[in-house]
Amino acid sequence: MNLVLYHFCPDTLNLYGDRGNVISIKKRCEWRGINLEIKEIKNPDDADSQGCDIFMIGGGSDREQAIATNRLTPLVNEIKAWIEDGVSGLTICGGYQFLGDYYQTKSGTKIKGMGILPFYTISGDTRLMTNLLVESEQFGQVVGFENHGGRTYHDFPTLGKVIVGYGNNQESGEEGLHYCNLIGTYLHGPILPKNPKIADYLIEKAYERKTGKKLEPLDDKMENDANRSVWKQFRYSERKEYKNEG
Ligand code: GLN
Repeated sequence: MNLVLYHFCPDTLNLYGDRGNVISIKKRCEWRGINLEIKEIKNPDDADSQGCDIFMIGGGSDREQAIATNRLTPLVNEIKAWIEDGVSGLTICGGYQFLGDYYQTKSGTKIKGMGILPFYTISGDTRLMTNLLVESEQFGQVVGFENHGGRTYHDFPTLGKVIVGYGNNQESGEEGLHYCNLIGTYLHGPILPKNPKIADYLIEKAYERKTGKKLEPLDDKMENDANRSVWKQFRYSERKEYKNEG
């Protein structure tokens, strides 16, 4: 039995090593004896009728985001249907932003999004660039870093409460988006190696949807030690930019 992962626009949306999320999913499947077939989707024709069990979209500059949006727009209906049908999705920063209706650049240009979910992003005068710590009810302490100009606004459930950093914008104190089995997040890092609960959530939902079987747990001592070390380093830092007074 194969799980199929679609990696969208790996050539344009791979800012800050988001490809590492695909490597993490691949490895965590291998450790369980699950074969993960990775398909790089650079253009709509690369997608086939069988679809995918998991998809990943990384981050990119405003320019690359616009290129990727134009390339993938023909797949909008398929991606919408997959999300509604419970396919696991991980979208990072630019890859998260362009699921919405539009992304307004710093110069005021509106880049049309894919319109898959009703939300929007507006770029501010400054970049939100710092370590990002999030307290999630479902995934516990989530760590990573963020580097984006866009401020994203939506009413969907989020990944969690920002403890250090900014997250979606500078007002809500929340980070990311969680709808069906889709996760949108500003967390680069890549996010999955140091947040194994999120990695296994994506794999578990795909595995259960395809086989009806429960996913076996892994020994995540090393991953959890890395997570705790980052959390400790920035949670109690005296540097003001690491404090979220919200
Ligand atoms: N270009 C978008 C922004 O600056 C996304 C950046 C990214 O993917 N890191 O907000």
